[in-house]
Amino acid sequence: MALVDTRKMFKTAYDNGFAVGAFNVYNMEITEAIVAAAAEERAPLILQILPITRKYADMTYLRAFIDALIALNPGIPIALNLDHGDSIETCKKCVDEGFTSVMIDASHLPFAENVAATKEVVDYAHPRGAVVEAELGKIGGIEENVPGVTRNDVKNNLTDPDRVVEFVAKTNCDSLAVACGTSHGAYKFKTEPKIAFEVLQAVADKLPGFPLVMHGSSSVPQHLKDLINKFGGDMSDARGVPEEAIKKACKMAVCKINVDTDLKMVMTAVIRQVFAEHPKEIDPMNYLGPARDAIKEIVKHKLRVLGCAGKAPQCL
Ligand SMILES: [Zn+2]
Repeated sequence: MALVDTRKMFKTAYDNGFAVGAFNVYNMEITEAIVAAAAEERAPLILQILPITRKYADMTYLRAFIDALIALNPGIPIALNLDHGDSIETCKKCVDEGFTSVMIDASHLPFAENVAATKEVVDYAHPRGAVVEAELGKIGGIEENVPGVTRNDVKNNLTDPDRVVEFVAKTNCDSLAVACGTSHGAYKFKTEPKIAFEVLQAVADKLPGFPLVMHGSSSVPQHLKDLINKFGGDMSDARGVPEEAIKKACKMAVCKINVDTDLKMVMTAVIRQVFAEHPKEIDPMNYLGPARDAIKEIVKHKLRVLGCAGKAPQCL
């Protein structure tokens, strides 16, 4: 089957209290691992590409690779989303290239300008069969080279529930990323994690039936921190979003959960371990291969946490 857009999977997710996992892809091993996990768990899937990834890896190659994986795994619906589209032009280009979803991140602009930019992308994407994710409020963190707010300012930049109805009505966007206390990267919280569920709930109440998106939702698992630290890394003060909080969000109106950092941590931990334990190892297959296997396992775990494992048939 071809790439799908996110409408059917979001409707199914909203109606059944789960969320679809959205994972960033950078290279062959990571992409293979994510798709293999979704296939084994029979889960709907969103693959994401950041503007910076488009500069790192030629899209001709990435797209051919994704198409090959789709052909090899016909039983699961897969959407391709531009993550944090940084300009109207990039969003339009991705629509032209066949992305089935684009995110326009104009959240750093004043409300009226965010509306105007989002609307222009929607007006371009919808007639061409793609859907649009927008963002209102500012999500924290800087790790994805996107304009974000510092960890200390996260609570001052949460989505204002009183503006979401006007924003969605004026832009006609298909889903909305909500700033609710999460942030990008591995250093989300200084102390105990705090998710503003009251903001998520207030936004959900204002927009019945409308799919919300949670960014920056890696959990930064302790065992991965320990492995990285044990083999020469330093992630001692990294902190993520607890899985219980993720599960709670999935039961609300959150239909898409973005996870990136945890997969990067797995890859880093495995490669560090191989290098430390086998200092003579120089064959990339012998460190990228185990990394691929480990990424597949953590993605399978995530898909179960999000509740989307086994849901692929309902989303087709
Ligand atoms: Zn994000």
